[in-house]
Amino acid sequence: MAATATLAASSIESFRSIMRGELLEPSSPSYDTTRIVWNGMIDRRPALIARCRSFADVEASVNFAREERLAIAIRSGGHNVAGYAVCDGGLMIDMSLMNGVRVAPGLDRVFVEGGAIWADVDAATTPLGRATPGGLISATGVAGLTLSGGIGWLRGSHGLSVDNLLAADLRPHPIA
Ligand SMILES: Cc1cc2nc3c(=O)[nH]c(=O)nc-3n(C[C@H](O)[C@H](O)[C@H](O)COP(=O)(O)OP(=O)(O)OC[C@H]3O[C@@H](n4cnc5c(N)ncnc54)[C@H](O)[C@@H]3O)c2cc1C
Repeated sequence: MAATATLAASSIESFRSIMRGELLEPSSPSYDTTRIVWNGMIDRRPALIARCRSFADVEASVNFAREERLAIAIRSGGHNVAGYAVCDGGLMIDMSLMNGVRVAPGLDRVFVEGGAIWADVDAATTPLGRATPGGLISATGVAGLTLSGGIGWLRGSHGLSVDNLLAADLRPHPIA
């Protein structure tokens, strides 16, 4: 993968034209605030940031990175201490706007989009008197925390977050 990207303006414009979400370049006003992650020592500058709003956006982002041979970093809650959610010179796929959560009535299941944080899950489950094991704080991402196991308040009675993961859907399948 290329460490630093030299991208044709026409490729960027063609990518932007199929995105529902925003495509940020270093000159974009919100570029610097969007590349911030929890660890303030991480200061990486992606060539582009795709602020995905749909599965089609994610698909377009992965295809663009593959075609342009760009490194990819995926951001959910941005709490990985090593800063894996952001990269230098590649494509940052920012999932944080895709934070939909739906509790399936009577099924004891919650469907969570790839950019949700645990606060989004708690907001949907708590009013129903339900919960599923997350972390100790609610600002971490559901995807990142679950990928790393997920140790939280309910571990003694219900195990890790990953123990409670029933399925990960990689196909276009909107939550709402
Ligand atoms: C203040 C703080 C408190 C913490 N508390 C706990 C705790 O109580 N329990 C615990 O188990 N851990 C805890 N952690 C560790 C945390 O769970 C991990 O750092 C986790 O990776 C954070 O996930 P994230 O989505 O917020 O991070 P991100 O940095 O956004 O992502 C982490 C990794 O997951 C990948 N990723 C994220 N979203 C997706 C996606 N949709 N699809 C594919 N890959 C994706 C990213 O590329 C990256 O490699 C804590 C960390 C911090 C900084």
